[in-house]
Amino acid sequence: MGERAPLPQTPTIPMMPMPWDRPAPEKAGLPSAYGLLPEDLEALGCPNDPAHLFSLLQRPWAWVEGRPKLGKANLAFLEAIADLRLPAIDEAIGSGDGSTKLALKLGDGRRIEAVHMPRRVKNARVTMCISSQVGCAMGCTFCATGAMGIQRNLSAGEIVGQVLSVMAMLGPAAPSLLTLVFMGMGEPLHNLDHLHRAIRVLSHPAGLGIPARRITVSTSGLVSGIEKLALLRPRPLLALSLNATTDEARSRTMPVNRVWNLARLREALDAWGPRPNEKFTFEYVLLAGENDTEADADRLADWLGDLRSKHNLNLIPMNEHSASDFHEPAEARIQAFSDRLKTRGCFVTVRRSRGRDVNGACGQLVK
Ligand code: SF4
Repeated sequence: MGERAPLPQTPTIPMMPMPWDRPAPEKAGLPSAYGLLPEDLEALGCPNDPAHLFSLLQRPWAWVEGRPKLGKANLAFLEAIADLRLPAIDEAIGSGDGSTKLALKLGDGRRIEAVHMPRRVKNARVTMCISSQVGCAMGCTFCATGAMGIQRNLSAGEIVGQVLSVMAMLGPAAPSLLTLVFMGMGEPLHNLDHLHRAIRVLSHPAGLGIPARRITVSTSGLVSGIEKLALLRPRPLLALSLNATTDEARSRTMPVNRVWNLARLREALDAWGPRPNEKFTFEYVLLAGENDTEADADRLADWLGDLRSKHNLNLIPMNEHSASDFHEPAEARIQAFSDRLKTRGCFVTVRRSRGRDVNGACGQLVK
């Protein structure tokens, strides 16, 4: 990017407890067993090797009938200090493209959604799209989850339990074949503490051991969260849902832009400091008549600046649903937008979301 004018100070957001910060209503106030690290189990008085107990909880390919096999002493210990309930798979709807949309019921009866997307080859790698909140507070006008509002944050144990439950049912049998994307219900950076604890659990070598470079957190542009996550380790990959090229247009479809505008967002990405081989993913939902002109494509390339050839830009034609009036642009329009970005040096891919026929695609998750 060229030289930019000085940017306004980060607006101060009061850190008041919000309704969605209420802790998950777990058994008698006990934490979920699936959000505890070996050091937590040790501090809570684990009678056996805490790393081994952690492994029993976190390796679903070794479970029996969808539950960890713990042994009497471990079970008695865990029942005293934690909630052993897992998010229960309530509904699984297969799509013609091989993906499965799953509804999971939490301990308080609320439901979230996840999408399981295997590649169609032997020993297939699986991408799992998972949720971080019940609903979402961000109010993006093209998104079905945004239309339902926020109900509450998921706890770290519920986030991890969601992955374990789906893996126990559908695989993959080896975590080395699994990639996780936080692109389901919710703004993950609105739930940063639980999100990051979940990432620590999911990447722990005694459990699933999924490296942070195979976990992507997608944000609508919550700059305060991007800046905090940038400093945390392990640090996942970052995806940014952009979807507009002027502040006026972005504030119209993504209210977060009224607090952190495009210039401030670009500054936060520079401050993130991607490491060698670490790529950002930029997502741009194409909305017919709203953000799909060649002038938009030019502004998008300008905004990306020096990031445009090194990072991934995904164009996602709108997945239509009843909670939004936006439509998918015509094919010629999508192609022209993509071609324009390519001539400007962008590394661009048009992504047809998987699970569209079962309302499991990007922006369609709602319960
Ligand atoms: S697009 Fe993401 S951040 Fe925006 S309302 Fe939907 S779930 Fe929330």
